[in-house]
Amino acid sequence: MDPISDNDLSTRSHVVRQLIVVFTGLLMVVLIVGLGALYRIAGSLDQREMAQSRFHAESAMAQLQKNERSYVLTHAIWQSAFDHLGRGVDVQWAFDEDNVGPTLFTADGYVGVFVLDDDGSRYAMVDGQLSDASFAHYSPQADLILSQARQVAAKQQATSGYFQFGGQPALYTAAVIQPPSMPHHLPAPRAVLVFVRRLDTRLLEPLGRAAGLSGFAVADRMAADGAKGTLPLEGSGHTLTWHIERPGSELVSTVVPALTLAGVLIGLLMTLFARYAIRASTGMDRSHEQLAASKAALETSEERFRAVAEASSDWIWETDADLHLSYLSARFAELTGHKADAWLHRPITELLDCDTAQLENWLHGLAASHATGSLRCQYHDHLGQQRICRIAARASFDRGVCKGFRGTSSDITDEVAAHAQIQHLSLHDALTGLPNRNKLFRFLEQAGQGAVPQAIALILLDLDNFKPINDSLGHPAGDAVLIEVARRLGEITRDTDLVARLGGDEFIIVLSRPGQRVDMDRFCARVVESLQQPILAEGHSVQVGVSLGVALSAEYPGTPSDLIRYADIALYSAKSAGKHTWRYFSAQMNEALLEKRVLERELREGIGRDELVLHFQPRYKVDGTTVASVEALVRWQHPRQGLLRPDRFIALAEESDLIVQLGNWVIHDACAKAKAWPVAIMVSVNMSPAQFSRSDVVRDVAEALRQTGLPAHRLELEITENVMLNDVEGALQTMNALKELGVRLNMDDFGTGYSSLGYLRTYPFDSIKIDKRFVQSLGKSASDRSVVQAIINLGNAMGMTVTAEGVETAEQLALLSDDQCHEVQGFLLSKPVDNDALIRLMLTRQPSAEMPTD
Ligand code: C2E
Ligand code: CA
Ligand code: CA
Repeated sequence: MDPISDNDLSTRSHVVRQLIVVFTGLLMVVLIVGLGALYRIAGSLDQREMAQSRFHAESAMAQLQKNERSYVLTHAIWQSAFDHLGRGVDVQWAFDEDNVGPTLFTADGYVGVFVLDDDGSRYAMVDGQLSDASFAHYSPQADLILSQARQVAAKQQATSGYFQFGGQPALYTAAVIQPPSMPHHLPAPRAVLVFVRRLDTRLLEPLGRAAGLSGFAVADRMAADGAKGTLPLEGSGHTLTWHIERPGSELVSTVVPALTLAGVLIGLLMTLFARYAIRASTGMDRSHEQLAASKAALETSEERFRAVAEASSDWIWETDADLHLSYLSARFAELTGHKADAWLHRPITELLDCDTAQLENWLHGLAASHATGSLRCQYHDHLGQQRICRIAARASFDRGVCKGFRGTSSDITDEVAAHAQIQHLSLHDALTGLPNRNKLFRFLEQAGQGAVPQAIALILLDLDNFKPINDSLGHPAGDAVLIEVARRLGEITRDTDLVARLGGDEFIIVLSRPGQRVDMDRFCARVVESLQQPILAEGHSVQVGVSLGVALSAEYPGTPSDLIRYADIALYSAKSAGKHTWRYFSAQMNEALLEKRVLERELREGIGRDELVLHFQPRYKVDGTTVASVEALVRWQHPRQGLLRPDRFIALAEESDLIVQLGNWVIHDACAKAKAWPVAIMVSVNMSPAQFSRSDVVRDVAEALRQTGLPAHRLELEITENVMLNDVEGALQTMNALKELGVRLNMDDFGTGYSSLGYLRTYPFDSIKIDKRFVQSLGKSASDRSVVQAIINLGNAMGMTVTAEGVETAEQLALLSDDQCHEVQGFLLSKPVDNDALIRLMLTRQPSAEMPTD
């Protein structure tokens, strides 16, 4: 009982006591009046008690019906029920799979479950058994129930009432079976689901108790006696009965003899006390009722919570303020293998462990800031294996005081493993296991950072005799040579050096402490000597040689690509000098630097002179015929060198602000061309990460859309994850703003970057493109296939479209199709072509069948 009603009671009893004093004084005068009043009061008390208990009984029954109706609706308004029972009867689904089956009897207590239609019942389960008997066998009221249920069907409501079921009083609830939303043009559904519950003491007893009434039962209408409360159950031929208190009559029978025997005074006192007692008991009844109602509400909400908890793939936990677990959803046991009981009342910090933060501090931080957060943790499952999970949590408060925490835990072990695998493959060459170009660049960038950039020697190696070996002895022999070369290079370098394979027969060695020229010479001589030793490949002894080009950053500092270019120039000179030797990059070879500057100037002028041109390469659905989008790839019509591929000038443009000008030209031209295409297909535009940091891409994209009139949904931007490297927050904001414009975002070159998975989760990408390096080794390397599969799975898990680029062979396409990749692009399907050729392609192929319009 709440404190207010306690107060109430004590004031009341105080008043009562005063009244007693007054009444005692006026004892004689009011004796006669008092007696008369006593009888009147007694009568009305009885009546009130009767009316009140009847009201409670009615409410209890009304609530029962309401609950029953909402329960039947959970089974009737259900797409699956409509599919399986709406038009025909799928007994397998309904009974055998227990969708509308035995559990309704065993757990919920429905003695009858029927599906009725105009021609009788088509599904009948009685006492948990399938029954051949029709509904009419149990009750004559089928038509009435059908028509009632159909009347309220449009409002997605159910109907309920009492009737006789097999001669026994029972409650039916009925609702038309229909899908959650019914297309208007279809005929209204007609089949009706009926649940029947017997009105027996097992049902009624607790119901009555909850309403504060005792002896709740049904009786034959005739048999009901006046000493009981009664409520006719319309339709069932029965009456609900319960015990009633008769406080008035009791009062009289107690007080009158007392009056005669012990005197008026005692009698009056008794009356007053009795009245007080009655009021108090009425008050208690009322709080009883409130308690029952709030308990029921609590139970419903708990049930709802449990349903959500059980349906989710995560498990849900709760702790008290001391972080002791106080609740674990049923999924906990399924997902971790631990028994929930074994963990309840133990600190969550014993279960979960976190590398990056102290779980305890983190939770308390959430409480302090009233925030919701998520944290990566690990735990050991019942087999002792480490699993990784993402915890989401928030604190719960009671009157401002933190009284515990609750949250979810999602298992991300597989995701993390896939990610680690992708990362390894993105940094290593699958054949030799050596670091690849990505890792090399990372290494070089690290060496170049810091106040005093570390002096390094970058040595580019090219095997002199490799191609003929590969061609004459076959790929397996070639592979064996490459693996042996990798091994030997590993042998002659130190741990602090780096040996990488760039692809083909090109290797790079980075020496972190190159020393003097003499030391370098000695090292290079060792490399040449080591690789000149015969190599055993597939049973053949072969001899390769090597030429080396060396770039020393102490003499010619530069970006990683600069250093590689210098080494390449030096290598060229070494080869011209007769192979099996090495050369250092020097000022005499400086034309490269010069050429770069010239090219940059020419590009600047070239953009102004409209020398850039877009080529287009379609991207297809994995069926290989439907075009999903067309990617714009920039080319430069150089006045002397001819048509240049972007590899020649994008990096150059990125080193200066030219990239902004170039990027804007591309977006604008791509939108304008797309707008004029004969079919309204999406255009994908590559964006350089440098554009993000050096210009307002949101404004530029919006401007291009506005000027060309291309609808935003026809533009997709392809962005590599490097965009996120420098300014994580800024990039996120920009991308969200781009999404708000309505353009799509595609993560390009997925798998080659730094930390793809984290970015994928945070950033609003619609799709990912698997880098062509993975695609091209499909069919050659099993591990690359599993990476491709892992990426496709990740994409699916995150609801993103997955494209594979660089598809060159039918075999690759078949494997991608098997692995359910969504979209493909590559020379096999179409090379990049100029705009005129693309339009011809669009017109010659049946646009309706192959190119979706919007
Ligand atoms: P990307 O975005 O990965 O584009 C795919 C590249 O792979 C294109 O080279 C395309 O011609 C090539 N390709 C397509 N199918 C195949 C195939 O089956 N096999 C092989 N081996 N290659 C295939 P492209 O046109 O030389 O472009 C190279 C890169 O230059 C692009 O890589 C992109 O990063 C960049 N790029 C191209 N256009 C633009 C642009 O307008 N802006 C910016 N910022 N970068 C661009
Ligand atoms: Ca691209
Ligand atoms: Ca790519």
